[in-house]
Amino acid sequence: MSKPFLYVENLKKTFPGARGKDDLTVFENVNFGIEKGEFVCVIGHSGCGKSTILNVMAGLDESSDGYVFMDGKEVQGTSLDRGVVFQNHSLLPWKSALANVTFAVKSKWPGWSKEKVRDHAMQYIELVGLKGSEDKRPSQLSGGMKQRVGIARAFAIEPKMLLMDEPFGALDALTRGSIQDELLKICAETKQTVFMITHDVDEAILLSDRILLMTNGPHAQVAESVTVPIDRPRKRETLVRQDGYY
Ligand code: ADP
Ligand code: MG
Repeated sequence: MSKPFLYVENLKKTFPGARGKDDLTVFENVNFGIEKGEFVCVIGHSGCGKSTILNVMAGLDESSDGYVFMDGKEVQGTSLDRGVVFQNHSLLPWKSALANVTFAVKSKWPGWSKEKVRDHAMQYIELVGLKGSEDKRPSQLSGGMKQRVGIARAFAIEPKMLLMDEPFGALDALTRGSIQDELLKICAETKQTVFMITHDVDEAILLSDRILLMTNGPHAQVAESVTVPIDRPRKRETLVRQDGYY
């Protein structure tokens, strides 16, 4: 049987203990695969190792054992073939929204002309609904807008895999809802392969094709993989109560 586009095999992570403390094995024997174009969400209790797995997949941290393979090659170190979105947008504060995106685009395609870089970046700024705000700095943008820039930046490098760590966790419910809708739209347009961590089960059901459940406690593993039925309501009616409360 052929391997999935991305697969994780026998992944293990042990953090060395601080002085006098025992080492901490956060997870071991983690195995899962993601097909091209699939949107996979991971849910699990706080502290079970979700961010650690994502960091290893992003190449920001190394595993203690096992492998991550993407597109037939072992993932080692960071690369612009993977786009990452964190809960904290991690934008460069001194750069405009557009410049945050063009910076990434230039790194990916150093040979491109200034105009080509700008046009390409603007497409993604527009895709996330930020046209007109491209010259604003992060400090002039709302939390939701900053997350949108982060998403534009990650998509603009046309990554083989998009990795997102609770990207909407810090947003209010209404803003979260509208960005979730945008994300679904962009993913449908770009057929982006996504691995996303969330602690919100409703969000996982709304966005993903499949949900991985990570068991809690020491030596966490991916316990189960649940396929979300494709006829689920992918469009949510925005609830507006007559009394103005949500
Ligand atoms: P989650 O994202 O599922 O909430 P994390 O992956 O952030 O969990 O953390 C998993 C466990 O690993 C936690 O117990 C956390 O304290 C521990 N941990 C995370 N990063 C480090 C580190 N750099 N050094 C030591 N322990 C860490
Ligand atoms: Mg986390």
